Amino acid sequence: MHSQKAPHTIRMHSGDNVAIVANHGGLPAGTVLPSGLVLGGHVPQGHKVALTDIAAGAAVIRYGIAIGHALAAIAAGSWVQESLLAMPDAVGLVNLPLATVKPTPLPPLEGYSFEGFRNADGSVGTRNILAITQTVQCVAGVTDFAVQRIKAELLPKFPNVDDVVALDHAYGCGVAIDAPGAEIPIRTLRNISLNPNFGGEVMVVSLGCEKLQPERLFPPNVIPIQDTRGTGFAGPPGVPPLPGGVTRSGAGGVVCLQDDAHVGFMSMVQSILRQAEIHLARLNKRQRETVPASELVVGVQCGGSDAFSGVTANPAVGFCTDLLVRAGASVMFSETTEVRDGIDQLTSRAATPEVAQAMVREMAWYDAYLQRGSVDRSANTTPGNKKGGLSNIVEKAMGSIVKSGSAAITGVLSPGEKLEQKGLKGRLIFAATPASDFICGTLQLAAGMNLHVFTTGRGTPYGLAQVPVIKVATRSDLARRWHDLMDVNAGTIADGTASIEDVGWELFHLMLDVASGRKKTWAEQWKLHNALVLFNPAPVT
Ligand code: CA
Repeated sequence: MHSQKAPHTIRMHSGDNVAIVANHGGLPAGTVLPSGLVLGGHVPQGHKVALTDIAAGAAVIRYGIAIGHALAAIAAGSWVQESLLAMPDAVGLVNLPLATVKPTPLPPLEGYSFEGFRNADGSVGTRNILAITQTVQCVAGVTDFAVQRIKAELLPKFPNVDDVVALDHAYGCGVAIDAPGAEIPIRTLRNISLNPNFGGEVMVVSLGCEKLQPERLFPPNVIPIQDTRGTGFAGPPGVPPLPGGVTRSGAGGVVCLQDDAHVGFMSMVQSILRQAEIHLARLNKRQRETVPASELVVGVQCGGSDAFSGVTANPAVGFCTDLLVRAGASVMFSETTEVRDGIDQLTSRAATPEVAQAMVREMAWYDAYLQRGSVDRSANTTPGNKKGGLSNIVEKAMGSIVKSGSAAITGVLSPGEKLEQKGLKGRLIFAATPASDFICGTLQLAAGMNLHVFTTGRGTPYGLAQVPVIKVATRSDLARRWHDLMDVNAGTIADGTASIEDVGWELFHLMLDVASGRKKTWAEQWKLHNALVLFNPAPVT
């Protein structure tokens, strides 16, 4: 074990000419490192120290790759500050290696299970939640009012139901709904409504005049067709609608606030409560049963990253990703701008050339999307990232990609697309999303994740109402200060008290406990929920 006082630096790759300072508070000038190197000045925690003299123009190497070129000579023992680095150009998207690396298949991991809710479509939920889909932001206030009443008056009658969640968002009207890209928010909202944690009970609140009409959002087998008598929406053919614009039953139900039957606000609220009770009664019949760990669909992402993200938390998550794949589970990694600089690593690791080409297609789409805004991937890094020691997106990307572990990449999803339920086991999927925490989480929900893992170095209280979010701290200092927000401390890896494998296994076991409902994450205990944020690359009118 390294004491806090002993100087401790971490080099990621034998070819690196920089290492990061692990000590809390950094190291002062004159510190003698175990190698005998003397620090020429103070180096903050998480920041890089030059291990050799680096000539002007020479590559600064971390993770075995050039994360930048020195703008001036950097003496051994000096702090390699962001201002001393020129960022390399992005890797091109032509002539990339396609499926050239064949990772040795990992041995299957058998005998692990959790207690989940099986759904008719073959998916498995980790929570039993009534989700109320909204076609448009206009109805959000009314729905939220109704949800408070549902929680107070109805939920206690249905003890097997964990929660009621309004799928609140800013979309649905005032948008160019047929513009290229508009299909992304529409399919995102549709697929979130079908997330395994909602048990197939689609309930919709619509305004009535919005562009995103319920029948555009859902195919007719998910919600009933519009009633031709103008009394809102009908149930299955031949079943007369109930008063108040409420469907009798069917696969789903829609409450339309502009329905003529609604006289006054309370009439709308009553309609929502009546419809909710139908769904709650059905959800209440769901029971947890033992299912194999292969039913996990895990979305991994990071936010508020620092230089330790790629040293502690993300490698531990990557080890756990390998465990999950070995157990037959599906794992999604995302955050296009944070893996873009490692595209050659990813395309070479693809299971087939088609998967590699699909990744290239997503990267090219995103490059063009950023270009429309006259920026590139370098716009990703935040002031907090830089304060935490990450000089640029290349360095950040190398630390981000390790969350994907070492298995072959077997599939690609475009933003808002849903993972097929019937598929191969042990899938590692690149789900293309922006790196923005809320948009990435929203798109991974649409992709069908039933558990979320989130690493953070600077610290964020991020949480989602729809699936449990396990948060992993990159540093022990953060884990100590945020002891009631962080679920796992990967800082023990930098402290030298645990290995990457130790923390990876800890996370794996915690996932099975959380998925089973035996444990709640801190974000669940405090009910910390971030908003759904739909990714809409289309114009707003
Ligand atoms: Ca993120």
